[in-house]
Amino acid sequence: MANFFGKTHRKPTWRKRGQSDGFRIVAVKTGDVRRLSRNIGEVRVPKVGWVRFRWSRAVPEGVRSFRVSRDTAGRWFVAFAAIPEPIAAPGTGQVVGVDRGVAVSAALSSGEMTSAPTLRDSEKARLLGLVRKLARAEKGSHRHRKVKAAIGKLKAREIDRRKDWIEKTSTDLARRFDIIGVEDLNVSTMTRSAKGTIEAPGKNVRQKAGLNRSILAAGWGRLVTRLEQKAPGRVVKVNPRFTSQTCNTCGYRAPGNRESQAVFRCAACGHQANADVNAARNVRDIAAGLAVNARRGDPVAGPEKREPQLVLLSG
Ligand SMILES: [Zn+2]
Repeated sequence: MANFFGKTHRKPTWRKRGQSDGFRIVAVKTGDVRRLSRNIGEVRVPKVGWVRFRWSRAVPEGVRSFRVSRDTAGRWFVAFAAIPEPIAAPGTGQVVGVDRGVAVSAALSSGEMTSAPTLRDSEKARLLGLVRKLARAEKGSHRHRKVKAAIGKLKAREIDRRKDWIEKTSTDLARRFDIIGVEDLNVSTMTRSAKGTIEAPGKNVRQKAGLNRSILAAGWGRLVTRLEQKAPGRVVKVNPRFTSQTCNTCGYRAPGNRESQAVFRCAACGHQANADVNAARNVRDIAAGLAVNARRGDPVAGPEKREPQLVLLSG
């Protein structure tokens, strides 16, 4: 409420079932987490007692708090906060630029393109059918609950796939390159912009929602966050302005350079490339320049954040 009256935040809202399921336990004592076997651990949850979980990640020494949550598929998780081990730089001096697209999730300056997996066509069709079924089902009915659970399961599958891609991609980049240049698009403000800020309430909220969804689907924000954790001090955020319309070969800049969403053709020198790869190369070159400046003393990357480790609860 203090932030709300300070006009920096929106009014606090109530927690909602199915949306903010979960709670955090603080002041955890040493004996409150114990390992029963190689795969099974136990955690003491106040008012509940000992709860078993699958020991799927290393639990950090001397945990002070943990978080219990439930996802849309009904799976329960317990998360212990831990700073992940940074990945050592290869020491080759190589710089990579990463450009994010909506269709292609990440294009590298090396020419590689990778995209986060989504649902298969058959799964999408099933999801659509379920959503329609849900609209016909009476709220609060047994059928409504069942259909909703099925939708949640499909969505959780998509989220799992995206997370897996983010982890693999960020680890791969951190291992292969010394400096990683990424576009600084500030996803959180972009996705928030549809609803608008307190000073400027949103316009065209419906139209923007679609774009925002695909931005979120690409999982860009999380990829950058994980990169910064795995390669602290080696991630350079680059202002993406003009990176998509500047020729990487000759430096000519014009909006007409971008022939289509996918193809870049320079109006000056005729250089033709995949539009996202061309942008990624521009990002790489800017990042390389910034990294040189950083060695002279300016910091390049933000502070490390604590990242909770997810552990699946059994039962
Ligand atoms: Zn050119």
